[in-house]
Amino acid sequence: MRYKIHRGEREIGGMCIEVQSDDGSRILLDLGMPLVTPDGGDYPRDTPQRPTEALLADGILRQVPGLYPHDPTAPSITAIILTHSHLDHYGLAHHAHPAIPVYGSDGTISILEVGSVFFPDAALPSDLHRLPMDDPVKFGTLSITAIPVDHAAPDSRALLVEADGQRLLYTGDLRAHGRTGFRVKKMLKDERLRGVDWLLIEGTTLGSSSETHGLHSESDVEDRLVRLASEHRDAMIAVVASGQNVDRLVSCFRAARRTRRLLVIDPYQSFVLMKLSPLSRSIPQFDWEGVRVSFSPRQVERLKEAGLMGLVHRMGKKSRVSSDELAASPSRYLASVRGSYGMTKVFDKIGPDRIVLVWSLWRGYWEREPCAMRAWAEREGVKPRFIHSGGHAWPEDLKRLRAAISAKDTVWGHTDADVI
Ligand SMILES: [Zn+2]
Repeated sequence: MRYKIHRGEREIGGMCIEVQSDDGSRILLDLGMPLVTPDGGDYPRDTPQRPTEALLADGILRQVPGLYPHDPTAPSITAIILTHSHLDHYGLAHHAHPAIPVYGSDGTISILEVGSVFFPDAALPSDLHRLPMDDPVKFGTLSITAIPVDHAAPDSRALLVEADGQRLLYTGDLRAHGRTGFRVKKMLKDERLRGVDWLLIEGTTLGSSSETHGLHSESDVEDRLVRLASEHRDAMIAVVASGQNVDRLVSCFRAARRTRRLLVIDPYQSFVLMKLSPLSRSIPQFDWEGVRVSFSPRQVERLKEAGLMGLVHRMGKKSRVSSDELAASPSRYLASVRGSYGMTKVFDKIGPDRIVLVWSLWRGYWEREPCAMRAWAEREGVKPRFIHSGGHAWPEDLKRLRAAISAKDTVWGHTDADVI
């Protein structure tokens, strides 16, 4: 067995790893969108939608024999296996030949399906399959075991590849400080992983983009939100977060409960949570006591277009909170929101002096990308609080994992650290 990292070794994003067994069976682990241009900028948002040939010509897609539709030897990759639903791991997978199946965990596939409802322009792979957890699956002579890990994307996996009497472990993205951090701790004792031939391990926090300013753990995020909500009894706590970060939503839900507030979510997040509900009974749902849904017209429109009228009705009947109600008593609510223009209109109605704005995403997004929320905050003189804990393991956890696995060869990836 041998492997090749096509992209993602000395950069954060654009992950693409090929593994080949001695008899020529080939698979890809992730096929992600790079996040940073060679000169350190951002790619335009519609980059994944550009034609395959143009992306190859610009080096955004890498040359992988037998992968793309125009290649006469395609499809000679047996499958693409995704570790999780972040763009830098799956975002270019739809450029592969349509006959190449794409596999991911239940949660990964569910998030991709949510994307097809809310972002219909974003192309998705056509042949999606669910990969069982912890059970080896054969792709030619390569065997893949998807091992659950803790990360900011729900239901993320590390991948163990076995063939020809050899083993390769690719961690994908992981951390030990989220709500399922025990999963990574379990890996420390996992005999299947000990002494693998190759450990391809993510090293995001080792580099210059490290999220060292963030809070140590997800439970710290919850505690900080509780403190903030207790200190500002006359205002709504508005937490700008990713709708797909379920750990963060749980932190918001728990902080709301602990301070006797109602959690407000939007239809997009309600749909995400509903799709992920088979994963765990502790994922909050829109019809739970203490949860309300603030209707965003655009999001409701998307659900209707996708034929989900029944869901819209159920949200409206059971859980809807109007912007008038939010404005009438903002201190009753803790809201998990997106940084959209539509949300700033709701904020205008409530009044900026009755909103405590929390930026609960990577701080670099606030600083680098001018968004509607930042424009609103600057106009209104609202200073955001930065309350966030990142999705990537701290250096000490990485060290522990590396030592426990004791691979014959360790290769760091997903990092901009120069020398490791
Ligand atoms: Zn990730």
